[in-house]
Amino acid sequence: MTQTRTQRAAVLVKSGENPTFELRNVAVPAYGPNDVLIRLSVTSVCGTDYGMALGRMGPTREILGHEGVGRVIELGSNVPSLDTELKVGQRVGLAWNRDVCGQCTYCMDPNHADQGEGRCGAQLFSGTSADGTFAEYAVAPLRYLIRLPSELDSVSDEDVVPIMCGGVTGYKAVKSCGLVPGQIIAVVGTGGVGLLALQFAKAMGYRTIGIDVNAEKGRLAQEIAHVDHYVDISQLPKPAEGQPGDTPFSSPVGDAVKKLTPGGLGAAAVVIASGAAAAYQSAFGMLAPFGIYMAVGLIPLDKTVPFHPTALVANGWQLKGSAVGSRGDILEALDFVRRGLVKPLTQLAKFEDIDQLVADVGKARVEGKYVIRLDGPESSDGGVKA
Ligand SMILES: [Zn+2]
Ligand SMILES: [Zn+2]
Repeated sequence: MTQTRTQRAAVLVKSGENPTFELRNVAVPAYGPNDVLIRLSVTSVCGTDYGMALGRMGPTREILGHEGVGRVIELGSNVPSLDTELKVGQRVGLAWNRDVCGQCTYCMDPNHADQGEGRCGAQLFSGTSADGTFAEYAVAPLRYLIRLPSELDSVSDEDVVPIMCGGVTGYKAVKSCGLVPGQIIAVVGTGGVGLLALQFAKAMGYRTIGIDVNAEKGRLAQEIAHVDHYVDISQLPKPAEGQPGDTPFSSPVGDAVKKLTPGGLGAAAVVIASGAAAAYQSAFGMLAPFGIYMAVGLIPLDKTVPFHPTALVANGWQLKGSAVGSRGDILEALDFVRRGLVKPLTQLAKFEDIDQLVADVGKARVEGKYVIRLDGPESSDGGVKA
């Protein structure tokens, strides 16, 4: 009889509207000679998991999830000779990128070396080319292992795991705006990514403005991210009949943001961490002269955002986009957590509730990040079962 090792995993059994997962016992993944096997201790849930489960991002694997922390438990046959330092027990992270091809333009462009990993043309991503982190075990190639150095031992798994995607995405977006400390950065959408972006922005010495649609989000932005200001869109007066709403040049929420800035000039950068096209539209109106418009949140592919090129010509604005972050960015971001400058807001959640958790995150109905422990008493022991 062949012996199969089994693990608990959340298997996507129905994608599209109201996606459904089922906790199943499935085989522990096989790994190649240049790979390692990882026992995950935690995963968290990212908004992109919902978009993937809806089918908005093309075909996926059955196991989604791209924020994980665990330890290496087995080494592929070539690994000891390729890397004499790596030992069983090494603490590692798993993120959106699971490997890079090292050959495409994104990987090779010497002028954008710090931005290529998140955009590798071979699309070697969690949940598409590799099974994700909604499982007790995962495989990673040695060449793209995200090692968590012992200096980070003081940071709990629960605090590390949100940084693997949401945190590093917020950190990299803020960093890539290239501002000088003291300048004003506005973040539209203060959910999983946005709240962390605001925390990093504050820790990096910027003045911060959070923008979202209700008072509860404002309370979190103030208590967790210590924003200088919060703008609650739901409290703004609606444009009067005949008055322009959001345009590529101005918006009512933009006017509200500008009032909070010296001289009413606007924010030096606006990071859009929302999945709503309307958020992208209104963000133009917040920008100061020479402002950076930083796209981060993913909106449905059938939605577009009109802009007028004259706005760029006249104001010197720059339109940019940021995609997750490199392994180096992850370690930089984690050092903010280690130093106590950023503390992710997390809620422990049950693996059994994965349907609800993914839907909550996708619909922005969660405070901070859901973290699921994968090594609880009900977990499989990874032992060999007949
Ligand atoms: Zn993500
Ligand atoms: Zn590549």
